[in-house]
Amino acid sequence: MKHRNAVLVCFSGGQDSTTCLFWAKKYFEKVETVCFTYGQKHSLETEIAGKIADDANVPFQLLDISLLSQLAPNSLTDFSIKMDNEKPENSYPNTFVPGRNMIFLTFAAVLARSKGIFDIVTGVSEADYSGYPDCRDTFIRSLNVSLNLAMDEQFVIHTPLMNRDKSKVWQLADELGVFDLIRTQTLTCYNGIPAEGCGHCPACKLRRQGLETYLLGKNKNLLL
Ligand code: ZN
Repeated sequence: MKHRNAVLVCFSGGQDSTTCLFWAKKYFEKVETVCFTYGQKHSLETEIAGKIADDANVPFQLLDISLLSQLAPNSLTDFSIKMDNEKPENSYPNTFVPGRNMIFLTFAAVLARSKGIFDIVTGVSEADYSGYPDCRDTFIRSLNVSLNLAMDEQFVIHTPLMNRDKSKVWQLADELGVFDLIRTQTLTCYNGIPAEGCGHCPACKLRRQGLETYLLGKNKNLLL
């Protein structure tokens, strides 16, 4: 049976996908999550994702796709690669895992179909600093068409954060009533430290700058 009121969220326990999880809970009756493990340095990530899903009372499924790290060495899985703190000129930082979102979304679609679910949520954003190609709207639309053709189905990939920078993602979390939960329970840091994180990796900087911008704007509005 096909459910058009059910959705599968690609979920990692970070700020973006947790915001997406609560966005999905607002707009869909039935929400499930899928989390991918591919040899990330910090196994705490999947534990945190499982706990947030549990607390949110949604099913959580962990899929192991470690092959990805063998094929695409990157600084998120390989301790011998020093993480780029800045985006190198004319290329992507080594936190970029080639093919990652394509593979995540493809496996998510296969899993969703087996459950009779055809709506999928991903927390990718074009407004992100490094401009990973598989976070762009054009790619997501293209993959959506390919998945439909590959399985002769009508999937819809939802990207509620596509045009939001990090301050707008904080704003959405606040509107959804989960600002504190996301601030204190999620893990975005590339060094595997939850909540405010290590403070100096690119993910922490981006998260903190977004938070400061959002809170500054909010306080200004309160004063007006
Ligand atoms: Zn960090």
